[in-house]
Amino acid sequence: MAQSNENRLEDTELTERLRKILLLERRLGFSNRAVVGGLDKFLQKWAREASQTTQHPMVRSALKRLETTSPDYAAKPAEERRTWVDRVLRWTGEIDGEAPVESNGSSVKPAASQSRRVPAGSRRAPAGKPPFLRPGQELETPLAEVRGIPTTLVGKLEKLGVATVWDLLHYFPRRHIDFTNTQPIAEIEIGRDQTAIGSVWQAEEVRVGNRRRGATEAVIGDNSGNIRAIWFNQPYVAKALRPGMRIALSGRVSFYKGRKVFENPEYEVAGDSELVHTGRLVPVYPLTEGVTSRRLRGLTKRVVDECAQLLEEFIPEDRRGRLGLMGLTAAVRGAHFPNDVDEQQAARHRLAFDELLLIQLGVLARKRTWREEMPGHPLHANPEMLDAFLSQLPFGLTGAQERAMGEIMDDLARSHAMSRLLQGEVGSGKTVVALAASLVAVAGGQQVAFMAPTEILSEQHFRTVKAMLGYSDVHTEPQDVVSISPPWFPKPITVGLLLGSHSRKRKQGVQALAAKGEIDILIGTQALFQRDVEFADLAFAIVDEQHRFGVMQRSELRQKGYNPHLLVMTATPIPRTLSLTVYGDLDISVLDELPPGRQQVRTKWLASDERDRAYSFVRKQAAEGRQVFIVYPLVEESDKLELAAALQEHERLSRDIFPDLRLALLHGRMKTAEKDGVMRDFGAGEYDVLVATSVVEVGIDVPNATVMLVDGADRFGLTQLHQFRGRVGRGQHESFCILISESPSPEASERLGIIERVHDGFELAEEDLRLRGAGEFFGTRQSGLPDLRMARMSDAPLLEEARREAISIFEDDPTLERTEWSPLSNALERAWRHRTTAVGEA
Ligand code: ADP
Ligand code: MG
Repeated sequence: MAQSNENRLEDTELTERLRKILLLERRLGFSNRAVVGGLDKFLQKWAREASQTTQHPMVRSALKRLETTSPDYAAKPAEERRTWVDRVLRWTGEIDGEAPVESNGSSVKPAASQSRRVPAGSRRAPAGKPPFLRPGQELETPLAEVRGIPTTLVGKLEKLGVATVWDLLHYFPRRHIDFTNTQPIAEIEIGRDQTAIGSVWQAEEVRVGNRRRGATEAVIGDNSGNIRAIWFNQPYVAKALRPGMRIALSGRVSFYKGRKVFENPEYEVAGDSELVHTGRLVPVYPLTEGVTSRRLRGLTKRVVDECAQLLEEFIPEDRRGRLGLMGLTAAVRGAHFPNDVDEQQAARHRLAFDELLLIQLGVLARKRTWREEMPGHPLHANPEMLDAFLSQLPFGLTGAQERAMGEIMDDLARSHAMSRLLQGEVGSGKTVVALAASLVAVAGGQQVAFMAPTEILSEQHFRTVKAMLGYSDVHTEPQDVVSISPPWFPKPITVGLLLGSHSRKRKQGVQALAAKGEIDILIGTQALFQRDVEFADLAFAIVDEQHRFGVMQRSELRQKGYNPHLLVMTATPIPRTLSLTVYGDLDISVLDELPPGRQQVRTKWLASDERDRAYSFVRKQAAEGRQVFIVYPLVEESDKLELAAALQEHERLSRDIFPDLRLALLHGRMKTAEKDGVMRDFGAGEYDVLVATSVVEVGIDVPNATVMLVDGADRFGLTQLHQFRGRVGRGQHESFCILISESPSPEASERLGIIERVHDGFELAEEDLRLRGAGEFFGTRQSGLPDLRMARMSDAPLLEEARREAISIFEDDPTLERTEWSPLSNALERAWRHRTTAVGEA
């Protein structure tokens, strides 16, 4: 027994890998899709590896079980798959000393449900402790000021984003462990989550393992028999357990030397107060250093009991009834300490609905404000001018481009400002559409701001725009402001570039011209919308590749002088659930058609020992005059170490692998002028290979580039890989994407398998969502939306319902002024309160 504890750690990583896969498999509905190639192969390999690395008898015996049961997962019917997966999950939990996933055990109500203010099981909490809140204090009171929470704990809770009583009420558990299955001690089974209630016969501090660590061993008995319990590394438990004390134990039991033993069970006094840690659906909270689950649970229980009733209901009862939503106080209680699974789900449903409703109210309010209250700036297109512009381009527009352009022109002509999202696959030709619309503004004597997420992309847009207007500066010193006089346009067009990294003097020069209205189209990064940038007459703002530019940023942009028309562009295909939230304030145009002649980029995932093959392929392509990107996973541009790796890799490739080729290096820490130079030279064909960090991710356009080699591909997400791939296949040559990965985790393997197979951006986005969840797909912080804690991506119907409800509420009272809406108005204000991220911080 003592040994099992000593052996835990070394098994953790291995077990963790298995757990992750099985949890994923569970999420995927036991569809045998958690690993590419099916579970059986993975399991066999895993078992082999495990038996080589672990000597632990418990692990070995379990492995035996596993090996005999695991093969033929593919052949099992779904129900058997579930049973099997859950069994193994529980077993892995056993090894890690971690709790298993919840299962729907028989639902036995906890012993008592009436709470006294005594956190059961906490020997330090004296009975009759005074309530947290003093008279006059409220939910908004900082935790530091309320009674009974030690300062050190307050500091730690702050790290979890919990600063007030309200925050604590809304710090929801990640999941619940089902300890409702209570059994007489004699009937306790091995390896299931169970609860036993009995009296302490004996409890003592013991020393276990080679290192003689302190632990507690106890014997607990009831009428049916007795059972041993052991708490590793918790000698202090012994002091809390006095002989004769009636306690509840919850956890899993294992078999040791012919006897059943509870290992590290949850425990608490089984008196007449409500059980908190045992015998019920027990909440499991996300933790931080120094805050134990037990501690947090005890605290939450008190706060929920004492303070949840102070929550202000903000959905009127009739609507709640119609929507089948439980009351707010009950929902918060049920989210933490539900009596059964039904209550837990009803609580989650209500709270998820709230989150989605508040988001919808927020985005719709913004949309309406822009529409109805802010003056627009109607811009009327001159069809002859547009035709002339388009006919001097080397290509004709696709049907999708024509359609999107029509929608945009219609919007521009209206008396309220446009708010439109132009969504289109990488290479679908969004830029030209944006430029055509810009010309409408410029022809009307107005200004256009064109914002890109990075400096390299800004520079590229600057070049592209100049080129499309018929200007070429290849042989002149690059200038930040150029004036172009296309023969087909009524007047000269002045295009400017503004980058944050430029010197102040340089920026001021450009800014002065913009302020005087002497720049027609100003291109740049978020520097465009900083405080010190003024436009004389900004009528149209374009935001490219915008997933870093959220609702709040859009909102602030609106306030930049005149209320400009706004066109947001993204190559990230967005599932509907997200488009209704992240882009809920926008109308949407889709470019669902690529320009003719684009071919699919052939994608191949290679193992790292096939790198040489990849290199010789690169050489062959270069010999044919093509160009190549080699990308390294520098996730953090600021990380010196990773930067060093890129430099080193560039050197190694130049010296050892491609001494005969011309290699360039591009990374985020280079000066803008340097980057600009490298990109321009690469674009002009002066290099064969561009070794780059992820700065090439978005939008870079070099039609002669045919190979995208991503080394360390397992470190990138699906959307990002798709973006990399979109850098090639932009000209007439057949193009290739090569993904190299050292030893991908199962998740990464799945991603690589998907990207190899799937070329459709929409399908990839759905997969990405499925694998990562919305939070990471779009990072709610980045999106500027209130957090989603309860709502999930699978909640699409709930989202639609929330949107309908938001619309109906606004129909009832557009400004939520009536008293009955004042709680909702408060909740709305609170949800969006901290979302005023300044432009530039995104
Ligand atoms: P994205 O939508 O990814 O921003 P771009 O606007 O950069 O795409 O366009 C990609 C490339 O396709 C550019 O070189 C652009 O000039 C070209 N292009 C755009 N529209 C068409 C079209 N209708 N036919 C052919 N090429 C086009
Ligand atoms: Mg683009």
